[in-house]
Amino acid sequence: MYYHDSPFAAGRRRNGPVVGPQLGPNPERHMSQIKRILVTGGAGFLGSHMCERLVEAGHDVICMDNFFTSQKSNVEHLLDCRNFELLRHDIVHPIWLEVDEIYNMACPAAPGHYQYNPIKTTKTSVIGSINMLGMAKRCGAKILQASTSEVYGDPEVHPQPESYRGAVNTIGPRACYDEGKRCAETLFMDYHRMNKLNIRIVRIFNTYGPRMHPYDGRVVSNFIRQALNNEDITIFGDGSQTRSFCYRDDLVEGIIRMMDGSDDFVGPVNIGNPGEFTIKELAEIVIELTGSRSKMVTLPLPADDPLQRQPDISVAKDKLNGWEPKVPLRDGLAKTIEWFRSIDLSHYRAPTPNY
Ligand code: NAD
Ligand code: UDP
Repeated sequence: MYYHDSPFAAGRRRNGPVVGPQLGPNPERHMSQIKRILVTGGAGFLGSHMCERLVEAGHDVICMDNFFTSQKSNVEHLLDCRNFELLRHDIVHPIWLEVDEIYNMACPAAPGHYQYNPIKTTKTSVIGSINMLGMAKRCGAKILQASTSEVYGDPEVHPQPESYRGAVNTIGPRACYDEGKRCAETLFMDYHRMNKLNIRIVRIFNTYGPRMHPYDGRVVSNFIRQALNNEDITIFGDGSQTRSFCYRDDLVEGIIRMMDGSDDFVGPVNIGNPGEFTIKELAEIVIELTGSRSKMVTLPLPADDPLQRQPDISVAKDKLNGWEPKVPLRDGLAKTIEWFRSIDLSHYRAPTPNY
């Protein structure tokens, strides 16, 4: 259903163009192209950038979040936009909304966050997905699931194509997240097959950028915060494990292309940057870019920490109109470091210990 078809459209249209103070109207966009879009987890790191992009495009955006790992400041700049609405709600509980599209991004994503209350993490992925899929079914809405490279676990296949079925320890400390996301993918596919729901599944690989929670304990935020404060850089294990880091702008573009792409391709599709780095290399680059006096120290490797991770993005390139990441690691890190320098850390609550 498009915005102009919605029973709520007429009244809203009388109120004029849906634009906020800083975000200008898009004169190219016809009212019939404007959709009512729900972003769950919309106040989080990635969710807030999704909201921003969709508000800019003129859509009517509902940002829903329980603020477990985020704060309103991530979407503060959108609050005065007439096409943006902020809703405090936990997706584990049902809710009745009228929408045309749903980006289901609610879920703690950093290991320290999702292990803080692992049962709640599983509930968010499983019960939360059921609630959002039910809403999509009732409204006839298109729905996208923010899945993860963690569905591949500690992979024996490298790089990881979508066809690889993964190696997850079902009883380990990461399982609440990995298995929750795997079950969510199953639910999405079953609603698609059984109820003909129009779905999309994207498997996101490590993504970084401004608005990451500075105390989320993820490697990029930890290293930058530590380097800027000339504190020890905490390398878990010997630092030879690898990750492939995608800048948020590339990720958002890939997700939008997937949602707006052909209904014949529902995914799953890997979205990430194939540039692979050891954790020690990442630390060296962060120290260099910040000009820090920090030293590297080693701490034990957490249980089930994947030793390698790199997306095979050939499906994304093929199906998403040639999409590929454009921002090299050094450039993305420079922008992220600039943002970390600009924030006041005392404004951020650490929901969990920072590593
Ligand atoms: P984030 O923690 O910044 O954002 C998650 C948001 O979801 C937060 O605002 C949080 O408060 C909210 N949330 C958590 N549980 C909720 C619930 N029960 N109800 C409502 N809101 C809830 O993390 P992020 O990096 O922005 O991740 C966003 C999504 O992308 C997540 O689903 C995550 O699994 C997925 N993902 C992210 C990455 C990455 O590298 N950033 C990688 C793979 C997958
Ligand atoms: N890591 C690290 N020091 C830190 C935080 C993380 O060495 O202070 C390592 C961690 O053990 C893992 C990698 O960095 O091997 C990425 O960790 P992150 O928590 O960012 O994401 P994930 O493990 O989910 O990919």
